[in-house]
Amino acid sequence: MSGRTAILAAGLAWLYETEQPDDAILQHHGETLSRPDSNRWYGFCPAGWDGRVVISTHVGKVEWTGEGGGRRPANPLGPGELDAITAELAGLGAEVVSTWNGHPGTTGSLALARPAHPTLLAAVDRYRRGCPNHTGPLCSWDGCPWYPTGNARVAHLKDIAAGAAGARVGD
Ligand SMILES: [Zn+2]
Repeated sequence: MSGRTAILAAGLAWLYETEQPDDAILQHHGETLSRPDSNRWYGFCPAGWDGRVVISTHVGKVEWTGEGGGRRPANPLGPGELDAITAELAGLGAEVVSTWNGHPGTTGSLALARPAHPTLLAAVDRYRRGCPNHTGPLCSWDGCPWYPTGNARVAHLKDIAAGAAGARVGD
């Protein structure tokens, strides 16, 4: 299994197979895994576009070329990168229903057919409802334990990836 496939497999295990505690709180962008050896990081969003699971791929360190209006990334995503990820996800049993961005940009996204695990969606809903004692999903009261305490209860993606055999991941 390639490094990227291992990351995608860990992401799918987190999105679909992992039961979250009923007091977990997760911000809506989800969590990420990085792959420094190939200058990429990946986002795993439980409920993004159209309420769907969205996996995203990003150039880690973007290098730029050109001047003024011609300035562009020198190391964008590859022309076939989203198609290759779509094929890898299909091999892992996950159907992609839509993709956007990608080459010649530095980020690309893939929306999946199957909804995330209900307990993961519930953790995002808890975040969206916001702190019960202060206003807004990102409680702005310095020192409020609501989000840190709830987020510490999440079964985190990086722990699942670290526990998966063959996964080569970093923070
Ligand atoms: Zn608060």
